[in-house]
Amino acid sequence: MAENIFITDERIEGAEDGPLAGRTVAIKDNISTEGVRTTCGSRMLEDYVPPYDATVVSLLKDAGATIVGKANMDEFGMGTTTETSFFGPTDNPAAPGHVPGGSSGGSAAAVAAGEADLALGSDTGGSVRCPAAFCGVVGIKPTYGLVSRYGLVAYGNSLEQIGPFGESVEDAARLLDVIAGSDDRDATTRTEGDDSNYVDAATGDVDGLRIGVPTELLEGADEGVVETFWDALGTLEDRGATYHEVSLPSVEHAVEAYYVIAMSEASSNLARYDGVRYGHASDATGNWNETFARAREEGFGDEVKRRILLGTYALSAGYHDKYYKKAQDARAWVKQDFDEALSEADVLASPTMPVPPFELGESLDDPLQLYLADANTVPVNLADLPAISVPAGETNGLPVGLQLVGPAFEESVLIRAASALA
Ligand code: GLN
Repeated sequence: MAENIFITDERIEGAEDGPLAGRTVAIKDNISTEGVRTTCGSRMLEDYVPPYDATVVSLLKDAGATIVGKANMDEFGMGTTTETSFFGPTDNPAAPGHVPGGSSGGSAAAVAAGEADLALGSDTGGSVRCPAAFCGVVGIKPTYGLVSRYGLVAYGNSLEQIGPFGESVEDAARLLDVIAGSDDRDATTRTEGDDSNYVDAATGDVDGLRIGVPTELLEGADEGVVETFWDALGTLEDRGATYHEVSLPSVEHAVEAYYVIAMSEASSNLARYDGVRYGHASDATGNWNETFARAREEGFGDEVKRRILLGTYALSAGYHDKYYKKAQDARAWVKQDFDEALSEADVLASPTMPVPPFELGESLDDPLQLYLADANTVPVNLADLPAISVPAGETNGLPVGLQLVGPAFEESVLIRAASALA
């Protein structure tokens, strides 16, 4: 396993029968597995063994899946390359020497490398769709509230959903059928997925489908990526879909708004790791403050520290209105723009990532550059909508993903459209 895909590769056998009997699944290491280490890619949780299963893990076991390992990820989900993992970077099986994307890079790489048939990741601002695009596999970010987050270690809870990966749209849809639905343990879930039948939606029939192309999501994107995107759109057109340009003026503020909200929520969520209640304990012997500071200094990596500091600042008295509240206003505007665009289109299409996969190590010293690479994915989380990334082709031998976004709880439309391509 030269690619460094798994943090833990203990097998967990599910039930004998069920829709996923005989299928292997890799699970991102921020999803709790009873009795099996769940590290979030962090030194802070290096030895943490949850006493319970996440709801999605119980559902997988009941469906007969075999869990083959806990997959590598950016520390606490904070990143776009899987290079912020305490356990080292994952190589991209579809483009060796390049990053697999992030933060669910190990999950996407497991499917791309054939180490697992299917995988689960989590998507706060693109962490399922980005690695799906970079590794040439399919990834779905469900509507907020479709899939239970019980047992998902929180990063930005108002934004994130657990989502499936597969080699084909049909595979990813089959896994979504198993995990979708309401859960008494997560009050933000809805009943829409309770009787889902996403797998039957993978018909590839796009006759009459109206596709909106938001011009803002093509601006500034790599030329080769844009070319590949138009080729894939051409394929959908050949099969009977039509497209027209639409505008989402608010998305120019989406990256800023996303990072203010995500970092603010992260600063609060990660306060529990103090080395006493949870997480790495230092051997400092001073007073409580010193012990607490040392545990966090040793346990967290640089990117996580940067976000806790910025998030704490954005929430602090005097700055709350200037940053957090403003970001929430921008979020409402983004939602409104998507609703409008989707009133005249069945789905919206764009490149998933504006760039092809970076070389390993290339982007490490430039966090701002990395944040900007999330330009096409974060607006969808701000709007709580579902999206899919499906392989569109390659540029210079590197995978390119096509993103389709749909109305809330209309995952079936995305699955139907995307299955015309993979
Ligand atoms: N790249 C984004 C971030 O770093 C998205 C991460 C995610 O979806 N977990 O926050």
